[in-house]
Parts: sequence; C-alpha cells; structure tokens
Amino acid sequence: MFRKILIANRGEIACRVIRTARRMGIATVAVYSEADAEALHVRLADEAVAIGPPPAAESYLRIDKIVAACKATGAQAVHPGYGFLSERPAFAEALAKEGIAFIGPTPEAIAAMGDKIESKKLAAAAKVSTVPGHLGIIESTAEAAKIARGIGYPVMIKASAGGGGKGMRIARDDAELREGFSSAQHEAKASFGDDRVFLEKYIEEPRHIEIQVLGDAHGNVVHLGERECSIQRRHQKVIEECPSPFLDPATRAAMGAQAVALAKAVNYRSAGTVEFIVDRNKNFYFLEMNTRLQVEHPVTEMVTGLDLVELMIRVAAGEKLPFTQDDVKQTGWAIEARVYAEDPERNFLPSIGRLVRYIAPATADQGSDGIRIDTGVGEGAEISIFYDPMIAKLCAYGADRGEAIDRLGAALDGFYVAGLRHNIAFLNAILHKPRFAEGRLSTNFIAEEFPSGFAPPAEFVAPDRVILIAAALADRRLAEAEAGASVSELCVQLDGAPHPLAVRSAPGGYAVEHRGETSLAASDWRPADKLMQMRLDDHVVTVQIDRLPGRAFRLTHAGVTRGAQVLSPRAAELLRMMPPKAAADTSRQVLSPMPGLLSALVVEEGQEVKAGEALAVVEAMKMENVLRAERDGTIAKLCARPGDSLAVDQVILEFA
Ligand code: ADP
Repeated sequence: MFRKILIANRGEIACRVIRTARRMGIATVAVYSEADAEALHVRLADEAVAIGPPPAAESYLRIDKIVAACKATGAQAVHPGYGFLSERPAFAEALAKEGIAFIGPTPEAIAAMGDKIESKKLAAAAKVSTVPGHLGIIESTAEAAKIARGIGYPVMIKASAGGGGKGMRIARDDAELREGFSSAQHEAKASFGDDRVFLEKYIEEPRHIEIQVLGDAHGNVVHLGERECSIQRRHQKVIEECPSPFLDPATRAAMGAQAVALAKAVNYRSAGTVEFIVDRNKNFYFLEMNTRLQVEHPVTEMVTGLDLVELMIRVAAGEKLPFTQDDVKQTGWAIEARVYAEDPERNFLPSIGRLVRYIAPATADQGSDGIRIDTGVGEGAEISIFYDPMIAKLCAYGADRGEAIDRLGAALDGFYVAGLRHNIAFLNAILHKPRFAEGRLSTNFIAEEFPSGFAPPAEFVAPDRVILIAAALADRRLAEAEAGASVSELCVQLDGAPHPLAVRSAPGGYAVEHRGETSLAASDWRPADKLMQMRLDDHVVTVQIDRLPGRAFRLTHAGVTRGAQVLSPRAAELLRMMPPKAAADTSRQVLSPMPGLLSALVVEEGQEVKAGEALAVVEAMKMENVLRAERDGTIAKLCARPGDSLAVDQVILEFA
C-alpha cells in the first residue's frame, strides 16, 4: 500500500479524499493556489505545496507543477478528485512516466470515453443501447436538417467534446435546428476549442439514471447500483438519490450488466460512472461514461456501506476487488442536495463573497443520525470567482425514501449561511413538492415546478403556520428578555398579510391559536440565535430567523421565506389605514444584478437606446452577463466605469 498520496484538487473533494487516506494510515499532500492558502484542505493535509496563482489554468491544471510537488514530497500516488485534471489522459501519462500511480483508470480508458461520439461508437460495439442518432460529425446546417428529419424531431444537438451541459440544444423543428446548430457550434468552439457537433433523438420526459462501476487491474468489474440525478437545472445536477424511485430489479440488473460490459470493453479499473437517459417506458440509453469519482458518490456509499475512495486507492495499489457482484447490497435510501453560492431569486446568478455565518446542521457522531456533510469551507471562508461555487453537499440517509426526504428537509432547515446568496431554501422547496415525494421526476422537474423562478408562494402554505408560530414565540422571548409586557392577542403581518393569533401560557410552553387551531409550542430561542428549535405539538422543527428593526423578523422554514411583523391588533389596524409607502423608483436605473467586474459599458450619456439593446457587460464567476435595456429611452448618466468592481444592486447607469 502507498505510504503517501497527493490530492490534485481542492474544496470538499480534496477534504473527503484526505479523510479516507488518513483512516487508512496513508500520509497526505495537498496542493493549493494562492487563493487557497488558508483553505480547509490545506489545513487537513499532512503537507501542502503551493502551485501558483488563483486561476486554475495557472495552478490546479498545471501538470508540471503537480508532478514536481509529488517529487518534492515523495508522494507515490495521486488522487485527482473530479474536474480539473481528473479526465486528462496526458496527466495520467505524465505521472506514469515518473513512476507515480494515478488513482483512476488508465490513460487509454480515459481517452476512449472522453469523446462523446467515439464513446458512443464503442458502446454500440459493446452492445450497450445508445440514443438513436447520427454518430458522425455534421458539417452544415442543411446536412443537419436532413439528418434531424431522418431521426425524427425533437432532436438534441450536442458537442462531441462537451461537458457540463455546454453546447447542447433541443430542436423541435427545422427552424429551431438551424438556430441551435450554429449556436451549439459556437459554444462548443468557445468552451472546448472544438466545434464538432452531432445529433441524437431527444428523449421526452427524460430521467437521468447512472450506474456506478468499479474495476480492478485483474479484469474484475462490478456495479454498485444506480443513482437517479433527474433533478437538474440547465443540465446540471442539483439533487441526487440512491436508489432510483423509478427502477425495478430487472431494469436495474439490465442497466448494471450493460455498464459492466462497457467498462470491460475498455479494461476499466477504478471507480467510474456510466450515465443513461431513461424514457417514461423504462427504455434506457447510454449517454456517456465519466472516468472519475462523481460529485454525487456519497449516496452510493451510504446505501452500499462501501468507501469508494478507499476502493479506488486499493485498486490503484494493485489489490483485487475484495468482493463480487453478489456481495453488493443496497440498503435504505440516500439523497444528496448540492448547496451552492447562487441566487435562486435572481435566476441563479452566482453569488461570491465571504461566509460571514456558516452554521451546518448538527450531525451525530459517525453520521448515526443519517446526515453527512461534505464541505471544503467553514465560517469566514471566501467563495471566490475562480472556482466552482459549491458550498457543501448535504446527504441524508433513511430506512426508506420518505425518511430520507424528511431528514434532508430538517437538515436543510438547520443549515444557516449568511454573507452571500445561497440555494438552501430552494433545495428545501424542491423536496417539499408533492411531485418529489411521489417520485415523478424528470430532468424538466425544476422548469415545470418553478415556471416563473423561485419566489415565496403567493398563497398561505403549510410551512407558513410554523413560521407564524415561530414569529409569535420570538416576540414572546423578546418580551421576556426585556421584561416588557406582552399581550395575548397578536397580529402577525406575514409578507404584509394580517394573521390574528392568540398566545397564552400553557404547561411547558405556549398555546398558540390561529384560524381556530391550537398548537402547543415551546422554544428556548435567544434573541441573537439564527436558528429557532421549536417543539410544536409532537414535532421538533427548526426555523431560520433573522431579526429586523422593531418586532420584525425574516423567517425560513421548509423552503418558504417570509417577512413577519408582530403587532398588537390595534397597531395592525392603524397600519392598515396608513397609505402604503411607495417603493423607491429604481425603474430608471440599471443595477448590477450581482457582485462582479464591469467589463464594458457600450452606451454613452445622451445616447438613445431601444428595448433589448445591450448596455453593459458584467463579469462574474468567469461568465459574461450582458445587461440590456428593458425599454426604449435615453441614457442620462453613467454611474460606473469599465474596470470598476460592482456590488450587488450598485447603480451602473440612469435613464432620463
Ligand atoms: P454533459 O457531458 O455536458 O453533462 P450529457 O450528455 O451528460 O452532457 O447530458 C447532460 C444532461 O442533458 C443529461 O443528464 C440529460 O438531462 C440531458 N440530455 C442529454 N442527452 C439527452 C437526450 N438525448 N434527450 C434528452 N435529454 C438529454
């Protein structure tokens, strides 16, 4: 076995690999860019080597620097994590040349699966079912239209070198095809330096279900069952689970057998994932193979009881797989939610900044309560523009799917992050959709369930009752702290809507009556706490709570966020007679939708613009965001200059 390994990655995955290596008695070496000098993975590792400036191309993607770090520290093997160099055959080759083991597959297997067109040809030859389509490079739009009609609309246009959902378009007719074909080509060229695109049938109501495989260097390959990753946004996974609520044992076995056949066809060793798209009739088609550890591997670990990183290390050291296919058992259910620094209420714009507060849900020792958190950050850490804005992966395990969902929801309620925008409430809102509980998933779930984006529901929903009672209790606790008088008749304005409540002392807490229903509520919340643990009848619930001026709060529970103001009935009545305060008129201003860099201003003072015309470009998280005029008008004033770094909502320009 190796005595020392280097982890050529950062963030949660570097931390996760270090943890297993430590348990196995293997010393660890971290590498880090200048932006990560204080990062958690650096602190966790036994040694750390600086490898360059923050941009990945100058640090985490530099094969020469990582090889040099191995030599300098005497690391005998490298775990690449996911992303960065994990799927570059040249990296595995460079290590091999120096006699350093790569904790992953052979360069040949990586190369064979690295190209979508080539891997599909290989899959077809191994009798793996592939999406009906045309596995050739298409030169012209006219040719594409002809082929699309042959396949039958709708079709999917894909970049052969693709990844991360880039260069993909759906076309339902010739016109959409013509437009999508050239834009997919452009995007592929810009993202991968390779404009080859191909066409395949678009599978309706698709579910993304993938098979985890594991092979050794002695020709043994097993599969560890599936993960369903259908909850996606823009073809990027958001929530994943194991097993899939859709598969029956026969389909699972058939998919597993095909995944193993494909892995064997490329002499696969190490952990890998064969991705399939599954239609509503349970027909499944090979999408691609990822020749690395996946982000979502923890759900498989929770359900099989295996440590995939340990097995990868053992296999790389030449050991045989310690079990056979028959030994692999799935027990219980696990679900993962990806917590990102992004703003769901602003079309998921990335949100960078410091984690001013970071309160992770409490987990019992060794995850005995079924909660697992994988993260590479903590309070005070910075989510920068240089890397993936993931904050953490939160996983919950249960005896069955219902229990896993309940535990994950409760854990999300207890996950408090401040300082930047995040998707925690959005994740919880997904879990609370009845359709999610029913397991009716598809990759269109988010688009269909949140057609106008993510916003608090207009109507009074079940979590609102918890929020109301929490607001009343918080008011009570404040009154107790101030030794002030409290009244038993209250009116809570929930996002402006009045809700009369009656609150009376009762044995062990308060009896709170709302709309004729009385609950017994108790909490020892203190005014500075960000989380209120509340006993509500027979349940314990967690509500996130931010204090606002006066007896007002911002509360979040079960994916619903509300502003609540606690008033006496008389004050509520008076408030209703006040003329509504006019909101500040920002309609004439163009504001920065996120923190970023003003990379261009394409208008001048006095210029007339038409609705839809580009005004400015804001760069953040390596993405260019073009701000456009929402109406016709004249530019009165420019309030920022190209090169300025912008805060969220900073005024960039004003219309006359
Ligand atoms: P990438 O490598 O860019 O992530 P994939 O080929 O893995 O691209 O596809 C990503 C996602 O796009 C899939 O999970 C699925 O949601 C969707 N998708 C891909 N191919 C099809 C198809 N033929 N029909 C319907 N959806 C598809």
